[in-house]
Amino acid sequence: MIFNCKCGEEYYAEDQHIGGKIKCFTCDEIILLEKPENLEEYEKLQELKKLEKAVELEKENSFIRLHLAEAYLAVNRDAEAKKQIDYLLQMKPNPDYLPEYKESTEKAKELLKTKF
Ligand SMILES: [Zn+2]
Repeated sequence: MIFNCKCGEEYYAEDQHIGGKIKCFTCDEIILLEKPENLEEYEKLQELKKLEKAVELEKENSFIRLHLAEAYLAVNRDAEAKKQIDYLLQMKPNPDYLPEYKESTEKAKELLKTKF
């Protein structure tokens, strides 16, 4: 994995060094070689950002609202997840997307029951 120092210096760390830290030769900054758990967290946040943008573009898309709620739950932002679920359940369904709406609201209700 590649790690970047604040000064712009790049360091490559082998897998066995992940979890440790190194000192930057240029600026003496301590660089944490973060564990893969953080990589997972990073990916979750990337996914979340993507869905936040998607909701901006399609505010009345029940599927995106549902996935956004799930993405918030994945990073323990329950209050924001709840907002998406509440919005979804109060939405006026688009007649062209009734099956999708039905599926989304069922899953949203399930989330309410199991995650809150
Ligand atoms: Zn540095």
